[in-house]
Amino acid sequence: MAAGRPLCKGMPIHLTIGNTHRCNFDCFMCFRRHIDLKAITQWDLGIKTFRQIAMECFPYTLRVELSVSGEPLASPTIIEELNLSAEYGIRLNMTTNGSYLIRDQIRQALLNTAGDISVSFDGATKDTFERIRRRGNFNAVVNGVRTFNEERKKLPASNRPNVGATTVLMHSTINELPSWVSLMHKIGMDSLEGSHILVPADRDQESLVHYKILYNKMREESLAEARARSIPLILPPPFPLEDQTPGEKSTEEGTPAPLPSKDSSILCPYVWHRSWIQYDGSVSPCCNPNFRSSMGNVNENGFKAVWNGPAYQKLRRSLRSGTADPACRTCHLVLRQDREAVPDDLFIIN
Ligand code: SF4
Repeated sequence: MAAGRPLCKGMPIHLTIGNTHRCNFDCFMCFRRHIDLKAITQWDLGIKTFRQIAMECFPYTLRVELSVSGEPLASPTIIEELNLSAEYGIRLNMTTNGSYLIRDQIRQALLNTAGDISVSFDGATKDTFERIRRRGNFNAVVNGVRTFNEERKKLPASNRPNVGATTVLMHSTINELPSWVSLMHKIGMDSLEGSHILVPADRDQESLVHYKILYNKMREESLAEARARSIPLILPPPFPLEDQTPGEKSTEEGTPAPLPSKDSSILCPYVWHRSWIQYDGSVSPCCNPNFRSSMGNVNENGFKAVWNGPAYQKLRRSLRSGTADPACRTCHLVLRQDREAVPDDLFIIN
């Protein structure tokens, strides 16, 4: 790269906006149980900052995701956020616990701007659901989601949001997985997906590595149920039963992956195309928790000043020149290539 400042020609086409930290549920496997919520001083982004981001970015943005740390529809200004997104023609993507879909006003505003909606739903019975998704009301979520699905299916196909369900695969729910498939189909979901629980130390007994035969059996039954109902279902592969026994350590465990050599460039898809705006208006380049530096704050001089400000320029230059932060050099989100392979049209050189 010739000497100069790596500015970015365009605005990000993909934004994640943390609109709220709030969540009305307290699911027992949620990562929020392991963060100090009392230390949060600002719970909501606020409509003023949301409007600033919309004004600067939405004319250029193809894809916007709302909060991944809280329940996005719990924001106190959610109706204004949804209406503003609709005004700019944005299709919002989000993961939701589905509880706010019982409210008419939220459903109607969401129908005007929703793109891909993923509803987290665990268990197929009221008892299991409410034991896992604490403070949740099974009947309210089922009714809200069903109504939203009925309403969206009346929209023309070109404006119709996609709605899928996701579930956490664990011991408490695995016996209900085939019934979950049937229930989700009944309430109008388009697609289904399950992912293994990320086990907190106090919940090790929930991991299906201890119940491999059971998982494999319920997986087969659930896939058969999905085929019978013609609904797509993605599940992790079956456990190879001759695999290592639970608790046995991989021989490679503890050997850190080697860092890429110091002078290799990193072709990061994030810093030229995407951005991540946190709840207090601070901007991160991505969701890698090991990358801790802020790029600036939208509340100071707006997003554009951050996007081509000193921190972003320094980061882009370091990725190109092979002097990147260790978080970038061990990043699972990027394609690493030789310096020569980084396309020059990603840069404007002053
Ligand atoms: S941590 Fe990964 S995704 Fe984030 S800026 Fe560095 S290389 Fe890009």
